[in-house]
Amino acid sequence: NFPSDVVPQAPEDPLFGLMAAFRADESPDKVDLGIGAYRDDNAKPWILPVVKKADEILRNDPDLNHEYAPIAGIQSFTSKAAELMLGADSPALKEKRSASIQTISGTGAVHLGALFLAKFFKGNRTVYVSNPTWANHHQIFSNVGIPTKQYPYFDKKTKGLDFEGMKNAIKDAPERSIILLHPCAHNPTGVDPTLDQWKELAEVIRSKNHFPFFDSAYQGFASGNLARDAASVRYFVEQGFELLIAQSFAKNFGLYGERAGCFHAVTAPGPDAQTTISRIASQLAILQRSEISNPPLYGARIVSLVLNDAKLFAEWEDNLTTMSGRIMDMRNSLRAKLEELGTPGTWNHITDQIGMFSFTGLTEEQVMRLRKESHIYMTKNGRISMAGLNTKNIDYFAKAVHAVVS
Ligand code: PMP
Repeated sequence: NFPSDVVPQAPEDPLFGLMAAFRADESPDKVDLGIGAYRDDNAKPWILPVVKKADEILRNDPDLNHEYAPIAGIQSFTSKAAELMLGADSPALKEKRSASIQTISGTGAVHLGALFLAKFFKGNRTVYVSNPTWANHHQIFSNVGIPTKQYPYFDKKTKGLDFEGMKNAIKDAPERSIILLHPCAHNPTGVDPTLDQWKELAEVIRSKNHFPFFDSAYQGFASGNLARDAASVRYFVEQGFELLIAQSFAKNFGLYGERAGCFHAVTAPGPDAQTTISRIASQLAILQRSEISNPPLYGARIVSLVLNDAKLFAEWEDNLTTMSGRIMDMRNSLRAKLEELGTPGTWNHITDQIGMFSFTGLTEEQVMRLRKESHIYMTKNGRISMAGLNTKNIDYFAKAVHAVVS
């Protein structure tokens, strides 16, 4: 039934393959800079103290059970998730023209949005994504029959944003195309537009009647400030755009495997906004029912507890500062060490970039040498997870980079 010309062997997921290679390496010096998950200064996963507290509260709650969540998820979670993303005083919330539905983390939210667009979007049925982008974007959209095209994003020379290239490609895309945007801490480059550049992009997107879809996986994790990391999305909403948002709580709560996420649709202001959003919400519920029936409870319960309690919320913000602060320290330290060693090239991009990742500019050949000679694991495109660096391995890493670049 399934011969190899019908079901060929698929390639291994490159990132998960990299993780397996790291695990199999027996060197005591090995360094994992592959997977985008936060690690503490001992290279260990970090359970946020506020998550431990929320977990304790949940475990002692005699009223909790394991019944199904509603199709749209836990309401106390989705409503606060919307506030977190849009801002408590968002015009979209005041005018009740947003719909929120709990999803299987950020991936599930991107998928639900893609599925919704595949069924209902009447514009140019192509999604424009940054070059490069999170690799999963391509397959999530193409799986539902929406092809991806790329807009320029990363400037190899400056290792910063190719803003003109990005803007012009979006301008040149056919009227009413879908434009996928990372609100902050762009994966894989760590390069973000400035707020002024976002304003220009909004103008271009408006002028072509494009449809923005924000994929937010790092709110609060990038700068440590939740509002700052959502500024791009909030600006577009203030400008009256109709848009979609995928929201992940994997990184900012350290709840990777618990799959807590949310999908938001916002309609444009106007007399029909509320009836439009109610129709959209009804269709999202139908899609959700056939895809997953209803979302998982545990992660959303944790997030909901924290978002609904002022004291826990403040503690969470503190935990966010711990994570983003340690990553910024590692950026400063890595740049300083490479400059001190006199490693050829410029290294300001290490501190200019933000969030989980840095696009180092290392070539595939250099990446492979680092793996073979120094047991340092990173993706072939030269992306490193900053969280994999710590005070114990950063010297070793800087010297190894120096050796392959010199
Ligand atoms: N979008 C982007 C840009 C990401 O980097 C990630 C995480 N790697 C996700 C979405 C989804 O992550 P998750 O499904 O774990 O929330």
